[in-house]
Amino acid sequence: MQTNNNVIRSIQKFIQIPSPSGQEEKTANYLKNLMIKLNYDDVYIDEWGNVIGIINGKSSETILLEGHMDAVNVDNQTDWKYAPYGAQIKQGRIYGRGSSDMKSALIIMVYAAADFNNNSIIDKNIVVAGTVQEELFEGVAQANIIDEIKPDLVVIGEASDLNLCIGQRGRAELKITTYGKNAHSSSPEKGINSIKKMIKLLNTVQDIKVPEDSDLGKGILEVVDIKSKPYPAHSVIPNLCLATIDRRLLHDEDKEFVLKPLKNIIKKLKNNDTDFKAKVEIADTKSKTYTGKSFQAEKFFPGWKFNEENSLIKSIYNNLKSEKPETKLDYYSFCTNGSYSAGKQNILTVGYGPSQEELAHIVDEYIEIEQIEKAYQGYINIIETFLNNNV
Ligand SMILES: [Zn+2]
Repeated sequence: MQTNNNVIRSIQKFIQIPSPSGQEEKTANYLKNLMIKLNYDDVYIDEWGNVIGIINGKSSETILLEGHMDAVNVDNQTDWKYAPYGAQIKQGRIYGRGSSDMKSALIIMVYAAADFNNNSIIDKNIVVAGTVQEELFEGVAQANIIDEIKPDLVVIGEASDLNLCIGQRGRAELKITTYGKNAHSSSPEKGINSIKKMIKLLNTVQDIKVPEDSDLGKGILEVVDIKSKPYPAHSVIPNLCLATIDRRLLHDEDKEFVLKPLKNIIKKLKNNDTDFKAKVEIADTKSKTYTGKSFQAEKFFPGWKFNEENSLIKSIYNNLKSEKPETKLDYYSFCTNGSYSAGKQNILTVGYGPSQEELAHIVDEYIEIEQIEKAYQGYINIIETFLNNNV
C-alpha cells in the first residue's frame, strides 16, 4: 500500500510538470532523480534527452520498459474543468494532461522495476526509459536507446486498457506537389493552374485501394491538408500546390510499396496531359531536442505485428491472464515507439498500459486509479515472466 501511495504521488508530480515535445527537460530530471532515489544501479540522460535507468542482472539478456515523457499541448486551458497541470484526484481518477498518455504508465514502470532491485542479483537486466519527442516522431528518439541497450524484449507502456498488444499500424506522411505557371488571372490560358492539376490528381488518388489486415485493420489514405502558392494569390494563377496525405501502414508495407500507386497515377496523368507536372515523396522534417541535438527524420513509421504463437508472447499472455482472466490479445490502432524497435529492428515488442486510447489528447484527460494499481501488478508480472523465461 505504501508503494501505491508513492506511485500516485509521483504520478501527480510528473503530470504537474508540463512537457510538450522538445521541452521535456524538467520531466527528464524528475524521472532521473526518482530512479536514483529508488536505487537503480545506473541512471543517465543520453544526448537526445532520454532518461535511462538500469537494474543490472547476471546475464546480458535485457528487458526494456519504455514510455514517452512528452505530452501534447493544452490548446485552451479554460476548456478544462480540472486544471490540466493540477493532477487533481476526483472520484477515483487523476485528471491532467498526460495522465493517460502516458505519464502514469512510465512512473508505474519505474516503480515496478525497482521492486526487483533487492538483496540478490537478478538473472537478467531490467531497463526503464523515458523518451522524448514521441508525439511528433514515433521511435526516432527511442532508436538511440535500442541501439545502445540492445534489448531482447521491449514493453511499450501506451494505453492498452490492460490488454496485451502485439502489433500496431504505422504511419507515413506523404507530400504531393503539383507545378504550374504564373499568369494574370484575367488571362488564365497564359498560365498553368497548379490547383486544378492537384484536383485532378487527388480525384484519382481517392480511388487507390489500400490494403487491409484482419488484425490491424485498414491501411488508411486520407488527404489532410492543402495549400497553394502564392498565397494569398491576388489575381495570380498559382504555380505551386502542395497537399499532405496521412497514410496508416500495415506491418508489411515499405516505402516503395506506399509510393508506387501514387507515382503510377502521376505517370498516367502526365501521359495524357503535357502540362501536368507533379511529384510525391515521404515528408521529412528537421527538429531539435531540449538537449540541443538536431535531427532530421523521414515521416515513415512502420507498422508491426508479432505472432501470438511466439513462446515468450504466449507466456506473458498466459501469466497476465492467470492474474486477470479478462486480459485480451490486442493491437494498437495508433502509432507508437514500437515503430522502431519492432517495425525497423524486429525486436520482440509488446504493448501493455493502463487506461484507454480514447482518453489521450482530450480535454479533461484522466486516468482511473484502479487502472494504475492493476498496471503495476501487470508490469511486475511481465518482468517476472521475462526473468524466468529460458528460451
Ligand atoms: Zn502516447
